[in-house]
Amino acid sequence: MEGGGDRIEEEVTIVNSPADQISHLALDIGGSLIKMVYFSTSREQLIDNTQNNSSRDSNEVSKGSKKRCLINGRLYFIMFETSKINECLDFIASKQLHNRGVHHCGFPASDTNTIKATGGGAFRFADLFKEKLGIILDKVEEMSSLVSGVNFLLKAVPSEAFTYENGKRNYVQIDHNDLYPYLLVNIGSGVSMIKVDGDGKYERVSGTSVGGGTFWGLGKLLTKCKSFDDLLEMSHRGNNRVIDMLVGDIYGGMDYLKIGLSSTTIASSFGKAVSENKELEEYKPEDVARSLLRMISNNIGQIAYLNALRFGLKKIFFGGYFIRGHAYTMDTISVAVDFWSKGEAKAMFLRHEGFLGALGAFMNYEAVEGFPNSVCPIREKTSNPFVGDLNDNGIIECCVQATS
Ligand code: ADP
Repeated sequence: MEGGGDRIEEEVTIVNSPADQISHLALDIGGSLIKMVYFSTSREQLIDNTQNNSSRDSNEVSKGSKKRCLINGRLYFIMFETSKINECLDFIASKQLHNRGVHHCGFPASDTNTIKATGGGAFRFADLFKEKLGIILDKVEEMSSLVSGVNFLLKAVPSEAFTYENGKRNYVQIDHNDLYPYLLVNIGSGVSMIKVDGDGKYERVSGTSVGGGTFWGLGKLLTKCKSFDDLLEMSHRGNNRVIDMLVGDIYGGMDYLKIGLSSTTIASSFGKAVSENKELEEYKPEDVARSLLRMISNNIGQIAYLNALRFGLKKIFFGGYFIRGHAYTMDTISVAVDFWSKGEAKAMFLRHEGFLGALGAFMNYEAVEGFPNSVCPIREKTSNPFVGDLNDNGIIECCVQATS
């Protein structure tokens, strides 16, 4: 992967901002979850940065009326459930995330009580943010946020994309000169499929309402589990063959080789429940969860591949919070894409899968404030004190070039 460092220009100022200065908060308020991204600097990191970049240290430049500076810091990723929006508001208030009075270059920020927000909740909760925190949500279009978020991750974060085969992640080298076009499949509550042709060039070509919300909603009803993570965990322990009707069930244990179907291929998701005449309680919730996850992941993988085929797209990236870095979900999607493409296409996943829209909204500050003019990760950490058990979505340690 090309190093983000190439994009740092020589003529920059390393800014001495106060310790732990937090700025530039962006939100993606979806149907199920609120995703938050914010940038924070710390004195410790600034010292590190000065040592590592001593040759650049005193370089400050004004080009016309523009001044550029380079700031080291961290991008943080945090998630809240939309139904518990008050927890999100309390978090913002307790950390004073919205009080970002000074632009990192030392100039006043253009609009200190305005934060970038995308997703339907940016409309639905606009009044609540205004009332409770005095924040104005500056709305960024959802699809365009998703696309800028993915483009940023693919270009700037090393080891962001990976394929998943036989239980292993294989990180993909992204060639910046050969990235477009690609298909982005964002699996949130619903599913959007977006053909991306370049920065800001995209079209939503398809979608399906059978997505993450369906898995969680139906799963909750069928298994009575209390949390999404419990449902995922259950699916891990279950066996879908108990409820799904397989080719072998129909063909007396044999493959149907003439049309390339093995005996273990699912012929009908949940199909056995018809002939067996059992009540729901007679099935293990684990098996139900597994069949449901397979049904939904398979279906999305298949629709994704058909859309890639429709537009001749060779690369398919899957994002959205539904995936959660969950082995079985990624495996099912990968197998579906592999099966329908006869091995021609591979599903690729993203480590910051759930934060595409929030990152895109964050990148939208640039147009107004010259921040982030560019973002170049230094290294990544795989644990985040705030994110807790969110798979390995790490903090991105980065330097940000800003212009004012
Ligand atoms: P949206 O923007 O529509 O909220 P997301 O990308 O945030 O979409 O994905 C929402 C989906 O993520 C849910 O429908 C569910 O399948 C899954 N999910 C993952 N973790 C959780 C969680 N802790 N609570 C609820 N849903 C979760």
